[in-house]
Amino acid sequence: MLDVLKIRIYPNPQQELALVKNLGSARFVYNYYLNQTNNQYLETGKGMTYCQMAKDLTQLKKHSDYEWLAEATAATLQQSLKNLEVAFNNFFEKRANFPKFKSKRRKQSIRYPESCSIRNNKLKLPKIGFVKAKIYRDIKIKGKIKSVTVSQTTTGKYFASLLFETDDLTVNKEPKISGIDLGLSSLVTVFDGENSDKVDPIKPIRKYAKRLKRRQQKLSRRVKGSKNCKKAIKEVAKVHEKITNTRADFLHKLSRKLVDENQIIVAEDLCLKGLARTKLAKSIHDAGFGMLLNFLSYKLEREGGKLIRVDRFYPSTKLCSCCNFKNDLLTLSIRDWVCPECQTHHDRDENAAKNLRQEGLRILSTNTEGHSEFEACGETVRLVNTCIKKRVSVNQESPVILR
Ligand SMILES: [Zn+2]
Repeated sequence: MLDVLKIRIYPNPQQELALVKNLGSARFVYNYYLNQTNNQYLETGKGMTYCQMAKDLTQLKKHSDYEWLAEATAATLQQSLKNLEVAFNNFFEKRANFPKFKSKRRKQSIRYPESCSIRNNKLKLPKIGFVKAKIYRDIKIKGKIKSVTVSQTTTGKYFASLLFETDDLTVNKEPKISGIDLGLSSLVTVFDGENSDKVDPIKPIRKYAKRLKRRQQKLSRRVKGSKNCKKAIKEVAKVHEKITNTRADFLHKLSRKLVDENQIIVAEDLCLKGLARTKLAKSIHDAGFGMLLNFLSYKLEREGGKLIRVDRFYPSTKLCSCCNFKNDLLTLSIRDWVCPECQTHHDRDENAAKNLRQEGLRILSTNTEGHSEFEACGETVRLVNTCIKKRVSVNQESPVILR
């Protein structure tokens, strides 16, 4: 199966200069062809395909004004064009907004589809050579590294995401299935069939709100374009990075714990886009539901498990987990209730987690999602044939960078 590892790399000044140039060239190529394809569309009613852009790029590099493009690794520039094509396809299939021009101020990245390797804790990149790296996990790479995506954060740090083939899997565990309910008062409520457990939410945005406000005020006082202004921009970016890192770190630890304890996790498939438009948007973003589900999904799959997402129209909160009575009177503010049918006293979140687990078992036993790798019979779930699977997950917040 494929695995991804994100590592921090430390280029020396010379290597950094070459990387920055390559990042700049990739950004230029992306923006140049976004503009070209827009123009061509206005003239002819048809945009450019990847092949047309790639052909044109070969010619462009021969032009004396653009000779500097030859300094960059050709494959990374082609990858830029592929990304542009994907961005257009996503737009046409209504998955994303119209592609935007890439700004120097945002996180930058380039992808090497070949010729990268690891030796003595160093990452070899084409045209750049061996770059010092921090590899914290013992990885077993089968064959060649499939691709490396190098990114530069707004604070000037460098990371590399390695995609590689491996057969390093741990699957011999007692299978266990849990339902988890996501919420704002308790971040997750886990029910494993016997006990339930609650985890308090984290609020990094709130935690760093004061610091962020102070630095933003400082930035607003600086003269635009001045040296101090640039410094202040970096200071603000650092707080944002701190917030993101705090959240990601917490969710990585939480998902690791859940994945260590369970082989199958059942969660509600939240409509995050819909929720993000409501009053609760800030809290929801701060809680990082999407990030948590994403972490759970890839960690479980890496270990031969599975995250089951229950349709969001399934009334997990309103059903009585004892007698299946549907309590339509339940509002968001009611934290616990007594079932009018069977008189069971329910904690709202715990009841939802129980229902989700039950629904997950039903999905497994009827195979309604087509999980042929699981055989479920009542409460016993066996994992069969979980070894060779390709993981494809596309989410900005995940360390998985597959395109
Ligand atoms: Zn009941």
